[in-house]
Amino acid sequence: MIVHCPDCKRPLIEFDQGSGNYHCSNPSCNFQYLEMITGKEHRKSREVEEMDNIPSSNSLDKKPKRILVGLAIENSLLNIGHSIFDKVTSKLREEYNANVFDCLENPQYLKQIMKANFDKKVQEVMYKSIKTILGEFAYYDSIRQFLDELNNKN
Ligand SMILES: [Zn+2]
Repeated sequence: MIVHCPDCKRPLIEFDQGSGNYHCSNPSCNFQYLEMITGKEHRKSREVEEMDNIPSSNSLDKKPKRILVGLAIENSLLNIGHSIFDKVTSKLREEYNANVFDCLENPQYLKQIMKANFDKKVQEVMYKSIKTILGEFAYYDSIRQFLDELNNKN
């Protein structure tokens, strides 16, 4: 099914299949996402738009997103279980000298650890939870790229 953006008329993308949340991929469009089930339309607020337009160095811009992604990972792991949280965070440290806040730039770290240590079911629950938390921030390119990478089966 193809749904078009009510503002810019581009086809919307269903972020997580089956979620019913459709995003506009046009970065200059003010439309954010549509909840298909309720018909609720979300648009970027002026404030967000202005914040995004402030010229800033790449690292300044990245920092809050790294934290956002890190917290989403932490939260999702803790929801599944403390032992899984402990395992993933210690593997990140041992194998990559990294923590959850490094995963925005290095989604492969998380994927490799999940793949090597947990069955498909756990991985799916984990990724679904991360996508649910980060879905509403997917209008940020860096977060959308991170989520795309999680979806990528390689
Ligand atoms: Zn649009």
